[in-house]
Amino acid sequence: MDVLDVAARATETGPVCDACLGRLVADRSFGLSNADRGSALRTSLALRDDEDFEPVDTADCWVCEGRCAAFDEWAERAAEAVEGVEFATYNVGTRPPPLIEENEALLRADVGLDEEAGEPFKSEFNREVGKRFGRLTGAEVSFDRPDVQFTIDLAEDEVDAKVNSTFVYGRYRKLERDIPQTEWPCRECKGSGRQGADPCDHCGGSGYLYDDSVEEYTAPVVEDVMDGTEATFHGAGREDVDALMLGTGRPFVIEVEEPRRRRVDTDRLQSDINAFADGAVEVEGLRLATYDMVERVKEHDAAKRYRAQVTFDADVDADALAAAVGELEGTTVEQYTPNRVDHRRASITRERDVYEMTAELDEPRHATVEIRGEGGLYIKELISSDEGRTEPSLAGLLGVGAEVTALDVLAVAGEDEPFERDEFFRE
Ligand SMILES: [Zn+2]
Ligand SMILES: [Zn+2]
Repeated sequence: MDVLDVAARATETGPVCDACLGRLVADRSFGLSNADRGSALRTSLALRDDEDFEPVDTADCWVCEGRCAAFDEWAERAAEAVEGVEFATYNVGTRPPPLIEENEALLRADVGLDEEAGEPFKSEFNREVGKRFGRLTGAEVSFDRPDVQFTIDLAEDEVDAKVNSTFVYGRYRKLERDIPQTEWPCRECKGSGRQGADPCDHCGGSGYLYDDSVEEYTAPVVEDVMDGTEATFHGAGREDVDALMLGTGRPFVIEVEEPRRRRVDTDRLQSDINAFADGAVEVEGLRLATYDMVERVKEHDAAKRYRAQVTFDADVDADALAAAVGELEGTTVEQYTPNRVDHRRASITRERDVYEMTAELDEPRHATVEIRGEGGLYIKELISSDEGRTEPSLAGLLGVGAEVTALDVLAVAGEDEPFERDEFFRE
């Protein structure tokens, strides 16, 4: 159908504003707004039919009921909704009233167009309000997880602003033992502490099994600096509560919900955290990250280097120790889920490689052992055999009981995963 015939039929249905008119043929000629397109059609129609040009006041439009005159107002309301919030990207969504969607369908039917002709009211609204919001604030539109996401509910006369989380990546060292990575709620009172008159005996009423955690030393500082409502710590795996995390540290991401500040100085943030953690925990390599970093950090099962202090039940000969270690180095170990591991998880036998292993006999009943192993290798069990659940093991090969008395992680890294430079976690 000729565009002028479309326009002629549309104007016969009653007062239709320029935007609603232009939207019917939004797929013809680009680089114009629908209002421009509608206005041009109306002009051409007056010229073709030699009639007087009669503009239509948008307020009188029976299709949008004047909504197409409100783009500026909604853009300003959106800007007000995020006043004081820092953002660089945004997106606008609209929920049109059902009546307007019905009017749109009626207009197309009256004109003889199919229901999908031109552009829907909703997408014009999103775009026109979005354009104006961008001009007002200097932010960029983004469809992939913008900093702020608006939903305009026209029927309810409301604009909802969702401020998306922001993320900080870094690596931590844990320099004191008995600090869990994340808060560890008490099993007995389920984290409540049983507030008030009847404090929980198990945790002394705090609700937590440990006073501190790597999370507690870091996340609140980030939450505070970014002025958010909640902060969550995501680690690339975790060491045992009683193990130190040394060397180049372990990658982590802290997620801050509803931040009012995003572009923070990460060097300063790093010093703030390190001052707050006061030597128990240290962070480095802090930088701003995107949301996909959480999955990358959590899914990464990196190789690790450990140092274990090992105590034997009986005297051990240095040659026998060297032979046992030589046999373990480069081998694949079968480990049935250890006794100490949470038994809500399925028990399975897993195979993990020991890449490198060295041992130094300090005393007849004590050795310092270093191991570089595949992600997921249970070190304490590799030494003790865990009552035969791990095979082979140092205790098994020596024929002597062996136990890890202190375990430290020296590096979360593998040959081809140079964590020192964080290459795996580059954007
Ligand atoms: Zn209209
Ligand atoms: Zn408790």
